[in-house]
Amino acid sequence: MQKRIRDTLLRTLKAAGVFDRVRDGRWRRRQLLILCYHGVAIEDENLWTPALFLAPSRLRDRFEMLKQKDYHVLPLIEGLERLRRNDLPPRSVVLTFDDGTYDFYKLTYPLLREYGFPATVYQTTHYCSRRMPVFNLICSYMLWKRRETVLPAARSIGIMRDMPLEARGSRETATHQIVAFADQEQLSTEQKNELAAELARRLGVDYPDLLRQRILQLMSPQEIAELAAAGISFELHTHRHRMPRDRALFEREILDNRDAIETLTKRRPAHFCYPGGDYERLFLPWLAELGVVSASTCDPGLASVRSQMLLLPRFVDTTGQTALEFESWLTGVGALMAARAQAVWSRNRSLDRRS
Ligand SMILES: [Zn+2]
Repeated sequence: MQKRIRDTLLRTLKAAGVFDRVRDGRWRRRQLLILCYHGVAIEDENLWTPALFLAPSRLRDRFEMLKQKDYHVLPLIEGLERLRRNDLPPRSVVLTFDDGTYDFYKLTYPLLREYGFPATVYQTTHYCSRRMPVFNLICSYMLWKRRETVLPAARSIGIMRDMPLEARGSRETATHQIVAFADQEQLSTEQKNELAAELARRLGVDYPDLLRQRILQLMSPQEIAELAAAGISFELHTHRHRMPRDRALFEREILDNRDAIETLTKRRPAHFCYPGGDYERLFLPWLAELGVVSASTCDPGLASVRSQMLLLPRFVDTTGQTALEFESWLTGVGALMAARAQAVWSRNRSLDRRS
């Protein structure tokens, strides 16, 4: 219902010319929209996790809108620098892609080339040198693929009772139990891959085919080096895609990630993105001391000169966003509406507290 009201409101605003006025106005000129994407589906990953994967045709539609409506797509570093100097071109946008899965190399990069758009990949690196999928993701994906069946109990994969896989909640429980079992057994990455292969056998999933297609694998060192040489910028996203609250472990994540990227790209990355949008204030001085210049969140908004550089807002584009919602964010209308909704929510909350 709320979505329908929102949709009607956006349609009305667009018809009244508000989209165009905000897009070409002085306020939007001083804002930088940083778009956040994750993966593009090689097979059907967009149906498994619509929030993380888009159909290739959807990404093309987004790029087409950027081109047709004359948006300026800037490299991240140039965008941030021009934001600071108050020298942004009109309708400025930055494209960022989190994680650096193989589909970026196979599907997104050719599309970027076709449109002539620059992009930044926030690359996590632990799995790069391994031709195997990210363990927790591939388990979840395979359970979803067999969602009409029951996973029989099997001690060897940490499943103690038969698990029907139809409901999303029970698939999440099964994934959690398998991952917890691997952690408890302190399995190496290679042993986790064998465990995933055993899960595939029990589910009747063709695991060698998933490996061949490189579904849910990261880009290889050669692929990263090739794209870096072709102008894609690779920045920090932690080595193991996690945010330890222990300072020494946190630093290890950044330094391992930085070393891996620098070796492949011959360029020292200094921009960071919080994995899963997970941040706390405590990280800010740690990042600054490590020489990190900017850090992106998944908090929706447009970046302005007043934004904290280590807490940059981004708009996460997902399968669930309609073309109209996406356009509202490009113009700036979406951000203004979100800020207004946030202000009303905060005011109501403080009134609730007082009453
Ligand atoms: Zn990530």
